[in-house]
Amino acid sequence: MEVLVGKTSAEIETLVAGTLGVPAFRGRQVAQGLYKRFQRDFDKLTDLPKDVRSRLIETFALAPCRVTKTDSAPDGTTKYLLALPDDEVVEAVFLPYDGRTSVCVSSQVGCPMTCSFCATGTEGLARNLTAGEIVDQVLCLQELHPDRRISHVVLMGMGEPLLNYPAVIGAIRLLSEEVGISLRHITLSTVGVVPNIRKLADENMPITLAVSLHAPNDTLRSELVPLNDKYPIAVLMDACREYVQKTRRRITFEYVLMAGVNDTEKEAHELGALLRREPLVSVNTIPYNSTDVASRYRRPTPESARAFREIVASYGVTITQRQEKGHKIAAACGQLKRSALKPGSAMRPLPMFAHLVAPTPTAPVLDAQPAV
Ligand code: SAH
Repeated sequence: MEVLVGKTSAEIETLVAGTLGVPAFRGRQVAQGLYKRFQRDFDKLTDLPKDVRSRLIETFALAPCRVTKTDSAPDGTTKYLLALPDDEVVEAVFLPYDGRTSVCVSSQVGCPMTCSFCATGTEGLARNLTAGEIVDQVLCLQELHPDRRISHVVLMGMGEPLLNYPAVIGAIRLLSEEVGISLRHITLSTVGVVPNIRKLADENMPITLAVSLHAPNDTLRSELVPLNDKYPIAVLMDACREYVQKTRRRITFEYVLMAGVNDTEKEAHELGALLRREPLVSVNTIPYNSTDVASRYRRPTPESARAFREIVASYGVTITQRQEKGHKIAAACGQLKRSALKPGSAMRPLPMFAHLVAPTPTAPVLDAQPAV
């Protein structure tokens, strides 16, 4: 059955009118209900006559994502496991901040990148998501949270967005043109697929690019991020420089801090030296979230994370720590899915915890900022 989410309003209009033999405005009503009012079931489109709705139900699928599991934190952060029509599942997270509402969405089912510290990486890649499946994660979470308008989208869930390039670019355009989310409020996080960073620079889309660096030298980065063997740091930095020159957009380098692995004074000095002459770049540190798959890594103490940031900042490099939300529930990429996949695992009661691990920065350059 042909799925409507993922098509433009004009395409939906033509398709619905052409297939059902109804006036074009009926198709427009479907598109507007879906993208503007987040009505993701034909039955909710009550401005359409009942017989048209019945024929739509028989002919098309509207929006594929179905919630199978959720986990919430007291700060409102809610992680969803969404099932797709072929029973594959992906994660999406709703993140309410003061003054902005963000969602984190997946771009692939699983991920082929095998980063050593990442829960999703252990699964391998099942398949790419379609543009519609990426957009529908946003629509689904918006439908579930009608009291807050989603203003920001980050492609930081499961998968490597730049390995699913056409669908991801298509989804970004739909989010901007149909759903009305500003391109400047969309962040794409990549592990560093160099040819597609270059391609992205030519798309003329003022989105925000985040690059998962995680180490300042090739030996360590190749241990953590195997793709580094193919695109070593110098090659990656060249592509990033070109991206900044072409787009005049800032790049954020993500740096997951793992105690004793990449957070010592040595790496801090190397990172400062690597980035000090780069214009329009900043670093966002993320304390490692423990996962059951990569238990050899540990989260640094807030003091050592702060000491790391201070050294990097002394090179004149802007460095902030990601404001963590829902730390205990959201944990890391791929974890809700793993807990759901465990044999016998049932929906767990929502964990009650009063506070989140929040950094307490003093200098402005070290301030915590919303992740997204
Ligand atoms: N594939 C893309 C986007 C998905 S992951 C990328 O690599 O950028 C989004 C971010 O979460 C990446 O920076 C990733 O390295 C980080 N991440 C993965 N596992 C983590 C963990 N256990 N703790 C903290 N951050 C993690």
